[in-house]
Amino acid sequence: MKRVLITGAAGFLGSHLCDRFIKDGYHVIAMDNLITGRLKNIEHLFPLEHFEFYNHDVSKFIHIPGELDYILHFASPASPIDYLKIPIQTLKVGSLGIHNCLGLAKAKGARLIIASTSEVYGDPTVHPQTEDYWGNVNPVGPRGVYDEAKRFQEAITMAYHNFHGVETRIVRIFNTYGPRMRLNDGRVLPAFIGQALRGEDLTVFGDGSQTRSFCYVDDLVEGIVRLLMSDYPYPVNVGNPSEITISQFAEEIIALTGTTQKVIYKDLPVDDPKQRQPDITKARAILNWEPKIDRSEGLKRTYAYFQSLSKEELLETDHYNFDKYITK
Ligand code: UDP
Repeated sequence: MKRVLITGAAGFLGSHLCDRFIKDGYHVIAMDNLITGRLKNIEHLFPLEHFEFYNHDVSKFIHIPGELDYILHFASPASPIDYLKIPIQTLKVGSLGIHNCLGLAKAKGARLIIASTSEVYGDPTVHPQTEDYWGNVNPVGPRGVYDEAKRFQEAITMAYHNFHGVETRIVRIFNTYGPRMRLNDGRVLPAFIGQALRGEDLTVFGDGSQTRSFCYVDDLVEGIVRLLMSDYPYPVNVGNPSEITISQFAEEIIALTGTTQKVIYKDLPVDDPKQRQPDITKARAILNWEPKIDRSEGLKRTYAYFQSLSKEELLETDHYNFDKYITK
């Protein structure tokens, strides 16, 4: 039986990856320090014989007994609000954390895939974004802690690949949505759906003309698995090219939820990218992959998940206690 380590396993993407590898017959070793991840996302896996969980911070030395075939490094805060609240942890998990994962991969002879991001392109001047575009990133802006950590993560991963011969893969993930997104992580989809469910107005930042391209989580997971199993060590965009303005997106959420609330406009956050759309030519060619679930279907499934949450969960605005984790 193949053994896989997933860091960030209790998070949105990590938990879906745990489900996928369990389904595919792997022994899954899940790791998370639960700053932004939630055990609720993976508690259904705890009774399984081939699932184990380590409550551990990957930016500290990682010890895993036994063999390892694959490592998926998905630990990281991943929303602009989180970067503002926990900037140092964001930098550490993308630098010290990946260093530990690469050392572990080298020691075990495991293949490693890192979760990179469309944020490596910053506020892009090339549209749609191809993998050979180097980006337009402000290193000292509010997103810099995430963007630069992820860029460093790609650099150190390539260095371990080239210098130590570690088998590595790099997926550049574009905006993804689906069940288990944290309602209060500040991302646009949970923000809008949460607002609709609580009977609040929907907050569009700026004039709403900025664009994003949203990929349903099952499509993303399929792309990640295909890339991991491929022999391609360079970055590959995985996302859904269907692009939409944030204003249009708000209208879609209003139609989906049937809310009678209106859209209100707030200031645009600093360095908020004006447009974002993946060029997935490479993923199509190398992985024979493209998204299958369109936004209307994906949004229906996601809304059903949010509707199933309790009233307490819906009203919770800040479920996690950062203070005890923050190391200066
Ligand atoms: N956004 C918004 N209202 C919200 C939350 C986000 O208009 O309540 C905007 C945000 O400014 C950005 C887009 O929606 O332009 C996507 O934001 P998100 O935080 O989901 O991800 P990003 O792609 O910016 O990392």
